[in-house]
Amino acid sequence: MTHLTFHYPKARKTHTCQVCGCAIPRGTVHHYQTSAYDGTVQAWRVHSDCAEMHWHHNRGRYEDDQTDDYLGYNYRGLWPHAYTRLELRSELARRKWEAEK
Ligand SMILES: [Zn+2]
Repeated sequence: MTHLTFHYPKARKTHTCQVCGCAIPRGTVHHYQTSAYDGTVQAWRVHSDCAEMHWHHNRGRYEDDQTDDYLGYNYRGLWPHAYTRLELRSELARRKWEAEK
């Protein structure tokens, strides 16, 4: 994987974070990168703290195994907002699942 761009832009519209699944509201400084992998260009837009947690979880910016099981680790003290957004998404998914049973 080769990084093509690596930025911290201010959102011009609301986006969805690719780590926690919650909104990145308009005006929020967040992380955006593009990379080349296997002949394709991939984009990744996430909250800045979600990016830090992801990099920590996957042992560095250049090793990305797409692991999304952050809740099993004690990241609350390191990235409290990112962790809370993940809990929110998890709870909403649980309630949706309960409602559909
Ligand atoms: Zn996020």
